[in-house]
Amino acid sequence: MKRLMYALASLMSTIGTATLLLYHAPQSTAPAVKPVVLWKHYYDQKNDSALAQVAKAFNVPDETIAEIKAKIVELKSRDPVFNPAIKPGKVIVTHPDHPLTLCARECLAQGGLCQHAVSILMDETIQGAASTLQKYSPRTDRVKTTLKINPTEMDLRTPAQQKAILMHEKEHLEQYDAIEEGYLLVHLFKQGYSQEEIDEHPAMVHYHHFKEFRADQLAAIREGISIGQALKDDLSTIELNDETLSHPSSVNRIAQMDQVLQHLHDNTIAVAA
Ligand SMILES: [Zn+2]
Repeated sequence: MKRLMYALASLMSTIGTATLLLYHAPQSTAPAVKPVVLWKHYYDQKNDSALAQVAKAFNVPDETIAEIKAKIVELKSRDPVFNPAIKPGKVIVTHPDHPLTLCARECLAQGGLCQHAVSILMDETIQGAASTLQKYSPRTDRVKTTLKINPTEMDLRTPAQQKAILMHEKEHLEQYDAIEEGYLLVHLFKQGYSQEEIDEHPAMVHYHHFKEFRADQLAAIREGISIGQALKDDLSTIELNDETLSHPSSVNRIAQMDQVLQHLHDNTIAVAA
C-alpha cells in the first residue's frame, strides 16, 4: 500500500511537470514543423472564390458557374493540347527554327502538353513579351491554341527570363484561363453588361489579377526556384508596371513570388490535394 502511494505521488508530480512544460511551451519553443501549403487545393479554392465573387457582383446564377466548369472539363478532354492521341487541326508555326520557338516547344513539352497542337507565332504587335490565345471554334467544336511571342521584347531578356515568361504563358493555357473568361463574358453580355462595366468592376479586376498571380506562382512551384527567381528578376528589372485592370503591379507580383520562393526554399509546399 505504501508502495502504491509512492507510485501515485510520483505520477502526480510527473503530470504536474508535464502540465507546467506544456503551459510554457508556446513561449519557449518554436514549432518544429512548418505548415505546408497544398498548392493544388489552395489555387483551386482561390479560383473558385474569385469566380464566385464575379458571379455575386453580376448576379450570375450558381448553375451557370457550374455549367462553365463542366464545359471546361469536357472541352479539355477533347483538346489535342492535353491528349496526344487526338489529331490536332491546322497548326501554324511562323519560325520553326527560331530559338524562341524551340524554347516555347520545350516549355510546353516540359509541362506535359502536346507542342504539335499549338500554333507558335512571332508577332511584334502584341503588348508585352508573349501571350496565349485559346479560342473555341463552333465550326470544329474544338479549342484552338496559339502562343504569340514578341521577339523584340524577348531580346531585352536573359534566356532564363525568356523561359520563365513562356512557362507563365503555359500556365494560363493549362488552366484554361481564356476559355473560362470567354464563357463568363458570354453570360455577362447576355445579361446586358457592357465590356467597360465588366472590366472596371472590382470583382473582375480581382479575378484578372488572381489569374496573373496564379500563372506566376504555378510556373515557379512546378518548374522550380530558378524559374521563380527569373520571373522575379524580369518583374523587377524590366517590367516595373503599375497596376492595371488586367494585371497586378510588379511590386505585388514580386511580393507574392517572394512568399512562394520562401516556401520552395523551406520545402513547405506540396502537391497533394
Ligand atoms: Zn499572364
